[in-house]
Amino acid sequence: MSAGVEDAGSRGAAPDEDAPEVWIRPGWEDVYRRSLDCVHCGLCLQSCPTYVETGREISSPRGRIYLMRGVAEGRAPLADTLVDEAFLCLGCRACETACPSGVRYGAMVEGARREIERAGMRAGLAHRLERFALRSVVPRRGRLRLTFDGLAVAQKLRLIELVAPLLPRRLREAAELLPPVPPRGERRRLPGRVPAEGPVRGRVGLLSGCVMQELFGRINAATVRVLARNGFEVIVPPAQGCCGALQAHAGEADLAADLARHNARVFADAGVDMILSNSAGCGAAMRDARDWISEEGALLAERTRDVCEWLDAEGLVAPLGAVPLRVCYDDPCHLVHGQRVEAAPRRLLARIPGLELVAHQDPGACCGAAGTYNLTHPSMSQAVLARKIAALSEADPDVVSTGNPGCLMQLRAGGSRAGLRAEVLHPVELLDRAHAAAPAPRPGNATYS
Ligand code: SF4
Ligand code: SF4
Repeated sequence: MSAGVEDAGSRGAAPDEDAPEVWIRPGWEDVYRRSLDCVHCGLCLQSCPTYVETGREISSPRGRIYLMRGVAEGRAPLADTLVDEAFLCLGCRACETACPSGVRYGAMVEGARREIERAGMRAGLAHRLERFALRSVVPRRGRLRLTFDGLAVAQKLRLIELVAPLLPRRLREAAELLPPVPPRGERRRLPGRVPAEGPVRGRVGLLSGCVMQELFGRINAATVRVLARNGFEVIVPPAQGCCGALQAHAGEADLAADLARHNARVFADAGVDMILSNSAGCGAAMRDARDWISEEGALLAERTRDVCEWLDAEGLVAPLGAVPLRVCYDDPCHLVHGQRVEAAPRRLLARIPGLELVAHQDPGACCGAAGTYNLTHPSMSQAVLARKIAALSEADPDVVSTGNPGCLMQLRAGGSRAGLRAEVLHPVELLDRAHAAAPAPRPGNATYS
């Protein structure tokens, strides 16, 4: 890691009109302004996985806010302690849900990471690889497709298993997390338009995602089927791109803004009533885009919903057959804390005949996936995951259901290592199964498959 950068002698900027007259480090104005909302009550501490694991105040939300404010005011140096703590944070935003003062911690830590990245304070091979992937592979569909093609071949020939013992620990752990790459047919692009079945209730756009389409194309296809069966025409604009979530979490704020701007234009042109996401991280990023690109971002924020939130609000009209399974629903952080969607997925699952929702301890706690965190901070990620797997093992469900690709991968990998017998599925996959198990549609109804 690079040495600290101290620029407190350079010319600062005035914050906003509500703030006292203090010198603010250039670029840190938004972090400083948000930090003023924290009243240091400490009510967020026990909800923070890194505080629970370490017991250190500086690894808690309150400690990090204090540190960020100190850096913004020039009282603390822009140095390694800040870099370590800003990136040890999982960005789970459980502290936002716990906070009675409405502190927007997620935006604050993303601002700090942006400034750390701009100051060039992160070094090392892992960071260079992460930056290359986030800049040059993830947002470029062709390259991403080729990467997954290569991984599919390597998995088929068992090359990864062969070379795994020779890989550095982090790469070996990354390889273990990767689920089997689905066949190309499952990863192929969705049709640009899928008509509604029966009376049309609306026209929605689907954010099909980047990694989501490559690893979880089956969930995208199930999402389209469920929406169409419930009367929605589904538009999947082929020109859409990566949402920018991973880039924003890693401090690549300018790239995240460019990606959000592109999607705002594409979905505006598609003329849809609402943009739906089946990935909690992507949905939260679309809703947060107002922090990155004010005007177009506000439009994205207003018009983006999680697919479960949408279906719950609009109501399921297609018949549901029995799915007799015991299901633990586990909240993705960026759905429950980032978008405040908690009851909707549970209500939808509870509608499925025969499905029994089983409680487990602390379903809103992070699973340790957190974007690329399980690759960049494997020890903390595994410690956080261990608590989750213990809670799920105690409940012993047939299915663990969650609505985010990173959580799906993390829970599947952790569950399989711990001998958990449960399948890990997205809620729309269970709805899709329930629709498929329902009596055949009346003659004359179109079907999508
Ligand atoms: S985002 Fe999560 S890990 Fe980070 S400070 Fe808040 S609760 Fe802790
Ligand atoms: S972030 Fe909120 S809950 Fe945590 S110490 Fe500050 S005011 Fe209290």
